[in-house]
Amino acid sequence: MKYTPYLLILILFLLLIHLKYQNKLENYTSGPTHSLYNGTNLTNSYQLTNYILDNTTTEIVSNDYWKKNGFYHLFEKFGKLHFPETAYTDNVMPTLILESTAKCPILFSLFNSLEKLDKKSKTNENTEGINFRNKIQSMFFNIDETVLMDFPIINLKSSLVETVATVEPIHYQPNFYFAIKNIELQTDFDSLKNPTPIPPIPPTPNFVKYIDNIPNTPNQKHYQFDHKQATFGVTEDYTIPDILRYLDFCYTTLCWGALNIRLMKPLDNHYYGFPCQNNNCNSNKNYFYLLPVRVRQICYEEGKKYTRAKCNRCASCVVVYFDTLPDKFTNLEQNISLDLSFPPIISSS
Ligand SMILES: [Zn+2]
Repeated sequence: MKYTPYLLILILFLLLIHLKYQNKLENYTSGPTHSLYNGTNLTNSYQLTNYILDNTTTEIVSNDYWKKNGFYHLFEKFGKLHFPETAYTDNVMPTLILESTAKCPILFSLFNSLEKLDKKSKTNENTEGINFRNKIQSMFFNIDETVLMDFPIINLKSSLVETVATVEPIHYQPNFYFAIKNIELQTDFDSLKNPTPIPPIPPTPNFVKYIDNIPNTPNQKHYQFDHKQATFGVTEDYTIPDILRYLDFCYTTLCWGALNIRLMKPLDNHYYGFPCQNNNCNSNKNYFYLLPVRVRQICYEEGKKYTRAKCNRCASCVVVYFDTLPDKFTNLEQNISLDLSFPPIISSS
């Protein structure tokens, strides 16, 4: 028993060594490993042109070292070609509008399941509309399961077109319009469809459309071939899986970049967060791209390589990848030629 005090001192000493070692292992106080850059300058202001760089690759602002940086810039190489930075206002949600006639058989049921824009014939979203909304949400997160979200990711509407008598119903095709704005009134939709041109700059399109050129006359072809078709596999056949592929493309146009999950910070409220880089939304630094922890878990269970996170205030999003980024995102940097004049390999005679 006379050794008890010595034993106690020894245990206390070992405990102190253990705590010191544990503190070294969980060294949260070391400096940041990555920095935010705009051009070649370090920045603390949020812009969609910002890059995240690993601190050992400070002077290279490009996508060349995305694996090392854990960040691939999508807005700079792809998104801004569809929606420029000035289009990103604050406190808005993207809107998807299905435009059709009262009698068009294509997507007839879905058309009547969504809330109408004009509000004259007020129709609320019914079960089919809610199912469609859930499918869009699962596509957004790249998961098969349906999850409940605290904040919506899309504003869904339908718009009725009055066809002129000369147009036979058989020659009419419905279309989807994806916008970066909240659209609640038919008049707003109409003015966005026909923006006032300010010469000499042609107006920037306000929408990503499902079918870019609907032929005006029967038998006129509407050849289209860009990333929507080539990289995302949209075939324009009006099936729900095809419409979801189109929406996958649309949401990618709204992504600032692709981030490795390690760059997202776990927050107290069961989300991973990263500050929203839309300056019009987040100059006060209060808003975040949020990824529910539950969604990350589902991605692991379903073996998914990536998911997405959306700002809790504006339309800006990010792709969040777990190990490596799928090729479909890195391919977006390549231009696809729209020149459809084929070389005269086959003689017409
Ligand atoms: Zn935002």
